Amino acid sequence: QPNPQWSEVDTYVTDLLAPADEALTAALADSTAAGLPEIAVAPNQGKFLHLLALVHGARKILEIGTLGGYSTIWLARALPADGTLTTLEYDPKHADVARANIARAGLDKQVEVRTGAALDTLPLLEQEGAGPFDLVFIDADKVNNPHYVSWALKLSRPGSLIVVDNVVRDGRVATPHPDDPAITGTREMFELVAREPRLDATALQTVGTKGYDGLLIARVTG
Ligand code: SAM
Repeated sequence: QPNPQWSEVDTYVTDLLAPADEALTAALADSTAAGLPEIAVAPNQGKFLHLLALVHGARKILEIGTLGGYSTIWLARALPADGTLTTLEYDPKHADVARANIARAGLDKQVEVRTGAALDTLPLLEQEGAGPFDLVFIDADKVNNPHYVSWALKLSRPGSLIVVDNVVRDGRVATPHPDDPAITGTREMFELVAREPRLDATALQTVGTKGYDGLLIARVTG
């Protein structure tokens, strides 16, 4: 359980700066009703992704890990009218719930939900010439984070942003945990980013309703 004060502050910030509207509220409610795990980004984090996409002027966004489309809605709402977002989801049930949530938010013309393991659908995107994406948000199975960053790099351009969620994991990331594939994958991802000359990156720790975690942001330099 998160520290009550962290949740209190998240609620304070969210109520003032990232209040839910009907589409966001319904997206979360229908995801829960359909039995999806409650692991979407927090509202203030969704707003942060939205602002990041706006500041960056992103016209083409790739998301890996859709769940019920909650973060998808925040990101897609930052797109210009002719912008597009492709989101990759392994679980067909999650993808169906997301499609309905995205349609209710009026974003179905701009957003495509692709079902399948991302390591299968990413090569298809490459074959189709779908990139380059201006912003890639990685939030799926953490063990594959190094592969997802490599794919994000392949599908981006100089200046693209890559954001990876859940990279702190209660602080456990700082020490090797060979028995925990999510930590191992995240640490391998950090090492890959660190030695990749085409990426300039940092990571921030966060606390809130989702506990103690953090995100990594990388800019593609070349
Ligand atoms: N980004 C979502 C949000 O904030 O609203 C939350 C995504 S949730 C943390 C992770 C999602 O990744 C789950 O829906 C899970 O089914 C999906 N996932 C897991 N393994 C995957 C894979 N190999 N390829 C694509 N998606 C995968």
